[in-house]
Amino acid sequence: MAAGKDARTGAVVAGAGPARTVRPTTAAEVADVLRDTSGTVVPVGSGTKTGWAAPATSCDLLLRTTGLDRVVEHAPGDLVVVAEAGVRLDTLQRQLAGHGQMLALDPPEPGATLGGVVGANASGPRRLRYGTVRDLLIGVTVVLADGRTAKSGGKVVKNVAGYDLGKLYTGAHGGLGVVVSTTWRLHPLPPAARAVVVPVPDAAEAGRLAALVARSTLTPTAVELRWEAGRAAGTGSELVVLFESIEESVRAQSRAAVALLGGGAEADAPPSWFGARPSGGLVLRLAFEPFALPRVLAALPEASSGTASACTGVAYAAVPHTTDLAALRAAIAPYDGSAVVLEAPDDVRQGLDHWGPVADSFGLMTRVKDQFDPGRRLSPGRLIGGL
Ligand SMILES: Cc1cc2nc3c(=O)[nH]c(=O)nc-3n(C[C@H](O)[C@H](O)[C@H](O)COP(=O)(O)OP(=O)(O)OC[C@H]3O[C@@H](n4cnc5c(N)ncnc54)[C@H](O)[C@@H]3O)c2cc1C
Repeated sequence: MAAGKDARTGAVVAGAGPARTVRPTTAAEVADVLRDTSGTVVPVGSGTKTGWAAPATSCDLLLRTTGLDRVVEHAPGDLVVVAEAGVRLDTLQRQLAGHGQMLALDPPEPGATLGGVVGANASGPRRLRYGTVRDLLIGVTVVLADGRTAKSGGKVVKNVAGYDLGKLYTGAHGGLGVVVSTTWRLHPLPPAARAVVVPVPDAAEAGRLAALVARSTLTPTAVELRWEAGRAAGTGSELVVLFESIEESVRAQSRAAVALLGGGAEADAPPSWFGARPSGGLVLRLAFEPFALPRVLAALPEASSGTASACTGVAYAAVPHTTDLAALRAAIAPYDGSAVVLEAPDDVRQGLDHWGPVADSFGLMTRVKDQFDPGRRLSPGRLIGGL
């Protein structure tokens, strides 16, 4: 196991970078690290998103998981794969593609590890069709704060004995335990794709078109909207409806989509902006009731740019760092809206309220944190309410 200083991942910690870095290569080594050390520990995969969520208030030890890089078992007949937490998603996808299969998660960052994808609850445009981490993760092995190892789920899709801990670790940003192994249900790689791209004059029309698709019998993999800065969000934007299936189906569905939407250009692949994320200033992840898309776009400053998964109520927006976050959150609250800061310039990051108002569930979240990590040594301060 390698140990040393690591300046690259300083963003995960408030102020100075981590004191020490370790890179264990087995789950047993991860357990040894947590058992044999005291002090605070932050697990990190590729570190592509250590800037996401609030910075840790302390990090004595950065636990880099990239040494846990084995695909343990792939059972193509069962559409299941078991892989360690440090395996890169793109590496796994290449291996699965050789068998005509995929893990149906498409977060944009190319280097992301499976542990990081679970820790950050990362997904992409195709969540409309396949769901997110919690829908696809069927088993997980975790090393707890005291070095004990806990397993949940297994290698079959229907395994409902006991608590489904994978759901708890999803989005926990390493605050409840270090994920060392993951088991996923897979999907066949669709053989053909067809995209319909429609210009959209304004946010109201974007909402109307998205609702038309959502209420239709069409089964798109993704419905994405992209807008650029300089005009009200959604004005002069582009909507893409993506179909992925067998050739006959995607052709029939894209023709039906053009008829339904009153026009649109058909192509064999989505435009280059599809799945990319906005950048600059504050990058926010907005979640809201899908029908409220036009009202959420209207609440954004004119200088914003971004993309929205128009039928699932998720948008990523880059807004000026001077944006009044409290006012934006209040404006979208009636639509069950939330705005989480993903990225911020270093000089404003410390003082930001990354997560927004803490909901009624905070008491429950605190009790869960106390149960799993009573000494508050794992990723302290990363989660909502400073947990
Ligand atoms: C601007 C921006 C846009 C983004 N857009 C999207 C998007 O469109 N869709 C989407 O869903 N995601 C998006 N992401 C999130 C991003 O895709 C994920 O954060 C990334 O996939 C995580 O992979 P990683 O290996 O780099 O993890 P890291 O950055 O290393 O870690 C991510 C988190 O998980 C924790 N963690 C890492 N490994 C483990 C482990 N083994 N056990 C426990 N905890 C662990 C870390 O402590 C950290 O909190 C976006 C992020 C940003 C900043």
